[in-house]
Amino acid sequence: MLSEFPSDKIIVSCDKCGMRKQYDRDAMVRAGGDRTLALLLDAIVARIGCTRTNTFNIYDRCGAKYEELVRLLGMSTSHRAPDR
Ligand SMILES: [Zn+2]
Repeated sequence: MLSEFPSDKIIVSCDKCGMRKQYDRDAMVRAGGDRTLALLLDAIVARIGCTRTNTFNIYDRCGAKYEELVRLLGMSTSHRAPDR
């Protein structure tokens, strides 16, 4: 959920259109209520995503993603068992 995001700043960026936005997590929760990260990303894309985004072709959607989330989650899962 949004309130459990591992950073107080949420950065959303898209490699396709170069969009990059930073949000304050707590302000987002206060403004729109708590919700899943997937729903939040949908809402962000709908507002500021690629202009070529259309909802009837999921393969041509805005490439927006949570920029920090990959790094933050990567740090917490960085010690996996080595391959044998
Ligand atoms: Zn985009």
